[in-house]
Amino acid sequence: MKYIVANWKMNLGIRESVALARGTLLALQGKDVVPEVVLCPSATALAEVHKTLSKTRMHLGAQNVGPGRAGAYTGEIGVTQLEDLNCTYAIIGHSERRIGLHEPDEAVAAKLVAVWESASMTPILCVGEQKEIRDAGRADEYVRGQILSAVKGLKMGKRKKLIIAYEPVWAIGTGTPATPADAISMSAMIRAVVLEVTSLKADDVAVLYGGSTNAENAYSFLREPLIDGLLVGGASLKMQDIHGILKSACDVISAQD
Ligand code: PEP
Repeated sequence: MKYIVANWKMNLGIRESVALARGTLLALQGKDVVPEVVLCPSATALAEVHKTLSKTRMHLGAQNVGPGRAGAYTGEIGVTQLEDLNCTYAIIGHSERRIGLHEPDEAVAAKLVAVWESASMTPILCVGEQKEIRDAGRADEYVRGQILSAVKGLKMGKRKKLIIAYEPVWAIGTGTPATPADAISMSAMIRAVVLEVTSLKADDVAVLYGGSTNAENAYSFLREPLIDGLLVGGASLKMQDIHGILKSACDVISAQD
C-alpha cells in the first residue's frame, strides 16, 4: 500500500478546493489499483470537498485537530467534529505548527491520543529535524525523541494504523528534498523505535516522506519499499504535479503486483 497525502495548507477557497479535488480525482480514472489518496483541504472546505469525494476512492483528512474529542478549546476543531465532517485522517504535529505556531510536544501527544481513540480516524504524525540539528549529526536522536514523546500516551490493545510522516524541516517548501537514501534510513529508524516502544505490528506502521516532492522526484521515493508514501505540500496544489505524483504511485503499485 502506498499513501499520497495532499496538504493544501491555508490555501484555496471552497470552490477552488472542490475544483482541485475534482481535478485530482481524474488522475485515478481508469486505474485498477490506486494508492490511498488523502486530500487535506482547509477546515472551511472539508464539508464541500467531502461531497466531491464521497463514493470515490479518495479520502478526506484534516490538517490539524484539537486536543480532544470536544470541550473548552476556543477556535479548535475536535475529533468528534472531524468525524462529523467525515474526515478519516488527521495530520498532527506538522512542523509549521510545531515551530511557526509554537505547538509543544505535549499538545502533539494529546492530539495523537485523541485521534488514536477515534473509531474512524487514522493519525498522520509528522516528525522531522531542523537543518542545524542534521548538520550537528543529531537528526536520528531528535526524531526518536519526537516519536517517544508523541506515542507515550497511546493505549495499545486494538489493531490500528499509525502513519508517521518524516518531514525534515529544511526540505519543506524549499525545493531541496532529502535524498531517498536519507529518507529510507530515517524510515527504518522510525519503524524500529515505534516497534520497540509500542505493541504495534510492523503492518500497523506506515512511514511516509514529505519535503519538496513533485512529479519529477516522486517515483524515486515511492519505488522504495521502506517509504510507504508521500506527504505533499506545494505540489499538491498544482494539477500537473499531483497528477504526475499519482501516476508514479500507480506505476509503483502496478509493478509490485
Ligand atoms: C508539507 O508541508 O508537509 C510539505 C511536505 O510541503 P512541500 O511538499 O511543499 O515541501
